[in-house]
Amino acid sequence: MTELPGIVITGASGRMGQMLIQTVVQSDKARLVGAVERAGHPWVGQDIGQAMGGAALGVVVTDEPLEAFAKAQAVIDFTAPAATLQFAKLAAQARAVHVIGTTGMSDEDIAKLEPCGRHAVIVRAGNMSLGVNLLTQLTKKVAAALDDDYDIEIIESHHNQKVDAPSGTALMLGEAAAEGRGVALADVSDRGRDGITGARQKGDIGFVAVRGGDIVGEHDVMFATAGERIILRHVASDRSVFARGALKAALWGQSQKPGEYDMLDVLGL
Ligand code: NAP
Repeated sequence: MTELPGIVITGASGRMGQMLIQTVVQSDKARLVGAVERAGHPWVGQDIGQAMGGAALGVVVTDEPLEAFAKAQAVIDFTAPAATLQFAKLAAQARAVHVIGTTGMSDEDIAKLEPCGRHAVIVRAGNMSLGVNLLTQLTKKVAAALDDDYDIEIIESHHNQKVDAPSGTALMLGEAAAEGRGVALADVSDRGRDGITGARQKGDIGFVAVRGGDIVGEHDVMFATAGERIILRHVASDRSVFARGALKAALWGQSQKPGEYDMLDVLGL
């Protein structure tokens, strides 16, 4: 019998890290072979299952990513931009599929992934859920069908610990709307209104970020004109949708050539 693909989870103690550990352990298509945390983290050296407050899983949390990646077929990484860039080099060295859920990466950060994608498969998406990836396609279609008499606003809500804004998902939706309209998002993006801003510029795509409580992730794409509004909405009520999408990407990546991919590739959308 062939062995199931081995998966390493980075940022294992994080909100997404713990959800990913549970998802991989419960899956009958993959096995958990590693859990990585930063040097000095209190979980390093402990069994990941016990550190999470449950039964032992036989995987000890390590601060040696390369050693862990070398034993794996895929790395699922929902951490922070600086850590993800370091992990991308190591995953490429280990020829492991690197699934990147980390958001808040700058254009320079993203450009640094390119050499890594020459050696290994990278799947990166600001949102790994099927629903949001469908929503990007719907947003593109609606934006293409309507002219710029319809003002596009993207309203996102997240928990009070989120460090970046707008969310990676809001940016994905903004890119989709801009693509539908045949414009570059950078030229029409309107963020962070405050004070006497003047009237809204026709054709702008606006972003609004709400932060509060334990909101997992909500995104509205509003098309507003005189007399009517169309609102496309996605609500994530459980982080497991992102974890299941990430695991799907890790498994899909096993049969792909080195290169950079996104969830639309994985989902065939
Ligand atoms: P979180 O709870 O803060 O978890 C981040 C984890 O990464 C923490 O355990 C953190 O450790 C760890 N980390 C940071 N730098 C590290 C390093 N150098 N080495 C090892 N571990 C490191 O955040 P979260 O809510 O899980 O979100 C994580 C990322 O995923 C964010 O960028 C978020 O926007 C993104 N996200 C993406 C999706 C998607 O579908 N693409 C969905 C949800 C979230 P410390 O606590 O020691 O710093």
